[in-house]
Amino acid sequence: MRSEVMVPEAEGGKEPAAERRRLLARLAVQPGLCAGCVHLRLVASPRSVFVRCGLADSDPAFPRYPALPVLRCAGFRPLPAPADADF
Ligand code: SF4
Repeated sequence: MRSEVMVPEAEGGKEPAAERRRLLARLAVQPGLCAGCVHLRLVASPRSVFVRCGLADSDPAFPRYPALPVLRCAGFRPLPAPADADF
């Protein structure tokens, strides 16, 4: 069974930051820019985690499953800094 973790800044909800970090750590390949992008969707099964580009849902110029690591991307939009970040 697969589950998808949405990055909530794009969805107007709360960010499951800990879950996102946990899933990112399971990736076999570093995701590059996608790791910090509001369009990131993580698709998880018990054995694997996949990076899906949410922007591909509305713009076919972007691949649904980008080749990793993504080093340059015209659609990249950084996640906002967490409100409780230690600076
Ligand atoms: S817009 Fe680009 S950087 Fe953002 S998730 Fe999609 S492929 Fe990755």
